[in-house]
Amino acid sequence: MIFMVKTKKVGLTGKFGTRYGRGVKVAFEKIERKQKATYVCPSCKKTSVKRVSAGIWQCKKCNVKFTGGAYSPTTGLTESE
Ligand SMILES: [Zn+2]
Repeated sequence: MIFMVKTKKVGLTGKFGTRYGRGVKVAFEKIERKQKATYVCPSCKKTSVKRVSAGIWQCKKCNVKFTGGAYSPTTGLTESE
């Protein structure tokens, strides 16, 4: 579940390093999944945040719009993989 987001300090550089090293296809599939996933809203705490466009996120419940990472709402947070 998306609730089980772990605070893992993985910088973008480290992530892209792996991505181009090996498993490029797998990395892209992960991104695809992340774009379709919903995330917990920082405002109303409902799992209703969807990606509007790169870096733009919106909550379907309270309509709050905020900027974040291109593929997940918070750049510092990564799902356990
Ligand atoms: Zn909300």
